[in-house]
Amino acid sequence: MGQDNDKNIRRSQPGFNWQGVERMPYKEEGLAPFKAISRQILFADPALQCELRYFEMAADGYSTLERHEHAHAVTILRGAGHCLIGATVQQVKQFDLVNIPAWTWHQFRATKGMPLGFLCMVNAQRDKPQLPSEQDLATMRADPHLAAFFKGTPTE
Ligand code: MN
Repeated sequence: MGQDNDKNIRRSQPGFNWQGVERMPYKEEGLAPFKAISRQILFADPALQCELRYFEMAADGYSTLERHEHAHAVTILRGAGHCLIGATVQQVKQFDLVNIPAWTWHQFRATKGMPLGFLCMVNAQRDKPQLPSEQDLATMRADPHLAAFFKGTPTE
């Protein structure tokens, strides 16, 4: 009964991997725009009614720009980058806590020349994300800070 045989503990392994946790594609290719990002489901307990995931984007990678009814609770675990929340772009770094409220446009980008990895807690049962319309995108791009963020060259 050594500690490494304890099924309740999955040891961390180099490169932000965990024992028995599969590193999967972020989403199905072609479903929504994204780049160079992987997904690991760390916890998914029906009694808790939530999931804890680890997402990691390579340098210059980004998550899908989307919004939905369910909220996200994010902890940056690796590296640094920028995130868009609503109409605001901000730098994020290791151990920052990021709250994504319901129905708020959001996107993470690894803009610092290094990978950006984060834990994300979410409802197990959740609504499907909405993608921006051309009009939504035009409105966001009219803001120079957001436009620079989408180009991968944020202003701050
Ligand atoms: Mn989301």
